[in-house]
Amino acid sequence: MKITIVGSGYVGLVTGACFSEVGIDVECVDVDRNKIENLNKGIIPIYEPGLGEMITRNMDKGRLRFTTNIAKAVKGCDVIFICVGTPPDEDGSADLKYVIQVARDCGKYMDDYTLVVTKSTVPVGTSLKVKSAIKEELKKRNISIEFDIASNPEFLKEGAAIEDFLKPDRIVVGADSTRAEELLRNLYKPFTLNGHPIIVMDVVSAEMTKYAANSMLATKISFINDIANLCEIVGADINNVRNGIGSDGRIGNKFIYPGIGYGGSCFPKDVQALIKTGKEYNYDLQVLKAVEAVNKKQKAVLYNKILNYFNGDLKDKTIAIWGLSFKPQTDDMREAPSLEIVNSLLKAGANVKAYDPVAINEAKHHFGDSISYYSDQYEALIDADCLAVLTEWSEFKIPNFKIVQKLLNSPVVFDGRNIYDKSEMLKMGFDYICIGINTIK
Ligand code: NAD
Repeated sequence: MKITIVGSGYVGLVTGACFSEVGIDVECVDVDRNKIENLNKGIIPIYEPGLGEMITRNMDKGRLRFTTNIAKAVKGCDVIFICVGTPPDEDGSADLKYVIQVARDCGKYMDDYTLVVTKSTVPVGTSLKVKSAIKEELKKRNISIEFDIASNPEFLKEGAAIEDFLKPDRIVVGADSTRAEELLRNLYKPFTLNGHPIIVMDVVSAEMTKYAANSMLATKISFINDIANLCEIVGADINNVRNGIGSDGRIGNKFIYPGIGYGGSCFPKDVQALIKTGKEYNYDLQVLKAVEAVNKKQKAVLYNKILNYFNGDLKDKTIAIWGLSFKPQTDDMREAPSLEIVNSLLKAGANVKAYDPVAINEAKHHFGDSISYYSDQYEALIDADCLAVLTEWSEFKIPNFKIVQKLLNSPVVFDGRNIYDKSEMLKMGFDYICIGINTIK
């Protein structure tokens, strides 16, 4: 079996690496020459634990190759996975131009039966558009080649992507032909052997499943953030409330942590795109509109707390920031709450000193030299008026608080991820401000 992965970003690289890891011959394609040249030199464009080693190992075995030549990569391959980006259009709907371009390339260059699988997150009906685009190209060539399309949305989490791909909670396959279903069942066999389920359904349901999953997760976050904000007002403690509701098996304790809003490349755009799909079909997705509105508000919550603490004047205040990526274990800053918070701080005249274990290079693209960057978390605290924790990296969880206290101008911590214990912080003499617990008397 030979497979081609088109789009060598987070999803494409992980998919390609993991399939080659189980012995399959994989060719990864991208239009970004620089990225492919670097990959061929063993330079991995993203931070994802375990990915670099896996890529190098399989390149050395000759099972994993990288190219910009899509024509060559499409010819003679059995399955093509479309893993290109689907960024939001101006109106919030998913921009499908990259997906359709790849579908056209498939039609232009395929020379025998091929299964074309859409792994990118795409709105309901896209796989049919993929099918039409391939057909049109085959017609232009005046040739008839059998092919199938399938939808196979990806559920990996950045930061744990390899583990998620190798040991998935489930693999969702939308297939309209038995041949396509059998091919995908076969391909995924190494990952389903230990009881990880493959759920086969129609293509439209598979496309919908991905959006419903991300929208449900975003809903959990906005729900708990809304409750957290109310807890602060009424004098309740969100940590107690979270434990109280999470122990109900119907609710569960996962993914109900309050914070500074969801970010990343998926939740914001997928919630928006599903609202747009609803609109196209004259259905008003009211819950998701509220989810989006709460998230927008939540991204400003920590900044407002900092502003209030300093009596509305941040001019020449120095704020130390720990964590810039949208979540731990990744350098991805797409839609990260840190973007909004840092920009608001700068606009208010504050100085920002930032530390992140892996996202500093990425941050430089966003903030340039308007903030200062540190390679040591404690160094960022020197002469700062407070510390704000924006990402819950493990290394921030039990810092040396004596050093934190000594280095800060005054012991003030804004905890955007509720990683510290309120009573301990107060006992140590910190002014401690977090989410969903009113700690300021
Ligand atoms: P990405 O931006 O990291 O990578 C996309 C890659 O596709 C880029 O390298 C780009 O150069 C390449 N590309 C664009 N057009 C191309 C073309 N015509 N031919 C070849 N390559 C092309 O994106 P990503 O984060 O990997 O996401 C890809 C898709 O998977 C999106 O639809 C996303 O919603 C979905 N998804 C992402 C995640 C995630 O955690 N990142 C998880 C699940 C699903």
